[in-house]
Amino acid sequence: MIICDLHCDTISKLTQQGGELISNNTHFDISRAINAGLRLQFFALFSYPSDYNSSLREILKQIYYYNTQISLWPDLIFPILKKQDCQNIGARIQLASILHLEGADCIGTDMAILDCLYQLGIRSIGLTWNHRNLLADGVGEGKHAAGLSRVGKEVVIRMAELGILLDLSHLAEPGFQEAIEYYQGPVLVTHANARALCNHPRNLNDSQLKMIRDCSGVIGINQVADFVKANGQPTFDDVLNHIVYIAEKIGLEYVALGSDFDGADNLVLPGIETYDQWENALLARNFTSNEIDMILGQNALRVINQILT
Ligand SMILES: [Zn+2]
Repeated sequence: MIICDLHCDTISKLTQQGGELISNNTHFDISRAINAGLRLQFFALFSYPSDYNSSLREILKQIYYYNTQISLWPDLIFPILKKQDCQNIGARIQLASILHLEGADCIGTDMAILDCLYQLGIRSIGLTWNHRNLLADGVGEGKHAAGLSRVGKEVVIRMAELGILLDLSHLAEPGFQEAIEYYQGPVLVTHANARALCNHPRNLNDSQLKMIRDCSGVIGINQVADFVKANGQPTFDDVLNHIVYIAEKIGLEYVALGSDFDGADNLVLPGIETYDQWENALLARNFTSNEIDMILGQNALRVINQILT
């Protein structure tokens, strides 16, 4: 069984505070991930929205940190850069990694920077974090949020050409459908849950879930307490409820995992070392082992294989 996780913020955290990716005291390190059965992790690069030059400088430092760290442990972690690399996921006891940009503020309106980021290894991009940037509006803009800018549309089209995965987490609702139209391929929502069970703007409503189904994308189920349950401390059972709900609403072939480890302080599972619980927890919810295989990894891998070149 291959376990994949579509989102953690460990790289930006460690770039700031220092520490080693192989072993540390954050929510995620390579050693604990491999022991828990994880075989693919998306590593987000993130800087708080600011002007695009400051943002680019910060992102470059995080790329440097990531590349330096993974090159220390070539037997334990390898980057996914092309479709062919996906064949090696789970073939040995090692972790594959996909480099993700959370909020593409650093592109500004300069398409050449997108090509640079691709060459530097980025294979997944979300246009915004919660705020507006030159490409689109994030969910934090509230009910007056707009969709994609002209450049935002160009970026999405160019991403599809290059074979970069498109992540719609954090994007305001008007941009959601637009992005799918311009991308013309399966999209990811790497870390979010169902709004029907927890009314948070970062979660997806039923019509957004159907858009994910209609483009054959996936949604990665998130561990952030605020996205799992509106009141009180949620349990792992509450997280499982989101999976069951989405599977019943649109089909389990569109469900994946996106922990958000190191992206928030209050999460349901305390760290990647607990990811070995998934299989038994889903069996207890009457999913078959084939279905569990899909939810934990194969659904995500289907999209990744389809998009990467
Ligand atoms: Zn996020």
